[in-house]
Amino acid sequence: MQVVSEGRLLWCRTPEVAYLIPAAIQGHAWLRCAFTTRWTDSATDGFNLSYDRDPHYVVSRHREALLKALGLEGSALHTVRQVHGNRMCVVDSAALQNGLADVEADALVTTLPNTALGVLVADCLPIVLYALHTPLVALVHAGRMGTFHLVIRAALGVIKRQFGVAPAQLHALLGPAIGACCYDLDDHAVRPFQEGFPDWQRFIKPSKRPRDAARPWTMSLTAANEGQLLAEGVPPTQIETVSPCTKCHHQHFHSHRAEGPTAGRGMAVIGIQHNGEPTPSTVIGEK
Ligand SMILES: [Zn+2]
Repeated sequence: MQVVSEGRLLWCRTPEVAYLIPAAIQGHAWLRCAFTTRWTDSATDGFNLSYDRDPHYVVSRHREALLKALGLEGSALHTVRQVHGNRMCVVDSAALQNGLADVEADALVTTLPNTALGVLVADCLPIVLYALHTPLVALVHAGRMGTFHLVIRAALGVIKRQFGVAPAQLHALLGPAIGACCYDLDDHAVRPFQEGFPDWQRFIKPSKRPRDAARPWTMSLTAANEGQLLAEGVPPTQIETVSPCTKCHHQHFHSHRAEGPTAGRGMAVIGIQHNGEPTPSTVIGEK
């Protein structure tokens, strides 16, 4: 498989699913984390994880295969309705009793064992957060508007207030997302950052060779969110970017910019598994 990563990712495969594991989590057996790829054993679909895009039974099969591959088959996979905002859903027993089906949020956090969290992505940036001194995992969905609404800062605030875990105690992984190489924006999209972010030029730059005269800017979601993580006190040594560009590599990842509104959705997953070992999978290679 082609090298697509600028960071450290392990390509793993079971008979049903191929996915990427951040090398950084290896050695922490309770921690399970993956970014899905489009690969599937079926020629008819592209391992889409969104119920909005494929029949329910197909997506359920994909989600089950993913959990099984990660050794989380006994766990429920919790997702929320992503709305490009900055709310974080605390997945605790009270929340589960109420159900998450109608919860609108763009970040999830849990300390519950045998529990998995997922965010759907097709170019937007998935950010994984985890602590090592205590089992706590979180996921953040940071597209352009989530970045504008400071979703990662809001998530770090919830984690500190509700769980007593400070940003300095957290590790962050920035997963596959559209890169500055491809994320062309028009003036309208850039203006809120110019007006609201003194450091906007750190992550938004004029295109060197605009592909589209109406979109003369490019934005790096990873640079913007790295900046927010650092500003909130996550140590630079605990932030890792493993973000191949999803549009450049849309043969491997679902990409809204590459495929348009019918694009499927990949998933970033993180979970806490206290009992049992992961299902043996084939590590294809370190990228
Ligand atoms: Zn690209």
